[in-house]
Amino acid sequence: MRNDTGDGTRVNASERTRWVCERAREMGFDLCGVALVEGLEDLGHFPEWLARGYAGEMNYLRDDRRADPRVVLDGARSLIVVALNYNSPPPYSTKIPTGRENEPARGWISRYAWGDDYHEVLKENLDALAAEMRQKFSEPFDVRVYVDTGPIIERVAAKYAGLGWLAKNTCLINQQLGSWLFLGVIITTLALEPTLAAGAAPPPDLCGSCTRCLDACPTDAFPEPYVLDARRCISYLTIELRGTIPQELRAGMGNAVIGCDICQDVCPWNRKAPVTNIPPFQPRLLAPQASVTNKPEECAEPSLFAPALEWLASLTQQEFSATFRKSAVKRAKWRGLVRNACVALGNSHIARDSEEYVRVVRMLEELAADQDAILAEHARWALDRLKAPRSNSAAGRACN
Ligand code: SF4
Ligand code: SF4
Repeated sequence: MRNDTGDGTRVNASERTRWVCERAREMGFDLCGVALVEGLEDLGHFPEWLARGYAGEMNYLRDDRRADPRVVLDGARSLIVVALNYNSPPPYSTKIPTGRENEPARGWISRYAWGDDYHEVLKENLDALAAEMRQKFSEPFDVRVYVDTGPIIERVAAKYAGLGWLAKNTCLINQQLGSWLFLGVIITTLALEPTLAAGAAPPPDLCGSCTRCLDACPTDAFPEPYVLDARRCISYLTIELRGTIPQELRAGMGNAVIGCDICQDVCPWNRKAPVTNIPPFQPRLLAPQASVTNKPEECAEPSLFAPALEWLASLTQQEFSATFRKSAVKRAKWRGLVRNACVALGNSHIARDSEEYVRVVRMLEELAADQDAILAEHARWALDRLKAPRSNSAAGRACN
């Protein structure tokens, strides 16, 4: 079927797909593909995953519309899926030396949250792409734009748009780019030709016999390959969970304060993943008044790359808001971040004869007397750990 474009020429579904994907690439997206709204077979696993309770308190995932994009938008036909590389240059969490002298205890903020909030960055660009589509194609059509916030499972759409495979660590992996990819989707009533020819299989699963991600997960969050029990995942515990972190999982959290990258850091497909220098995804620099202890050896300036735990745990609500304005860290909220920093301090190995130890113990004692019962309990747990006799074994990713 051919339709008029805004400039009077006539194009078919195949030409539209080519134009959309070329335009997405010109706008800076690394990958773009199109899937039909029907036949997303992997969505069929989702109800069972929910029924097993693996979503924990993420009740927004129970939205029935997730089972079928056609319910999201009346008359929907196509899913345009884009990916943007966020693999900024600082090293992987698994490559940072631990236990260096004179280095303060450091926390780990997940790579995706170092810079500006990716939801906003991608949404702005996808909105611009949708606006250009309206100018280009004259026939009336509807769109909805989603970046991890709507009832669309982006990674499943990405698989069927030919962008990669759904790996044992449940991430989408692209053979050339690895898994450090932000995904966004435009669902539209416009007829577009799918990237994969009719009957063609999505990209093959190249995990093979590898189990590195499953073996490396410090909280055993994979009950089986390709299945994540979010309730045990550090990303969920540090960002989504509002209440008390289960005590039996705290030691495994190591120094994580926002998210966890371990199952991606160890993946062989990320060893040669291209690095991006897109400014919004570089570690946010901290204000000069932030302690100088926030500059790890790997960084020229203090930033959100491995910031000092003492600084994180001491942030006031106002400082939190100023530091994490337009940042994905906001989702954890001030209370969550301080709670997480307490856990990471409890897992740290700060030398007992150091000034840092004295300051941290004093700060935790103040938090342990806080009116907020959750903060107080996590601070007490951290104090007990810091003061307990030490063994040589370090749990999870060490803090120093
Ligand atoms: Fe495990 Fe961390 Fe991966 Fe979650 S993000 S599954 S805790 S390795
Ligand atoms: Fe697949 Fe191995 Fe990467 Fe896990 S670490 S996602 S098993 S290739």
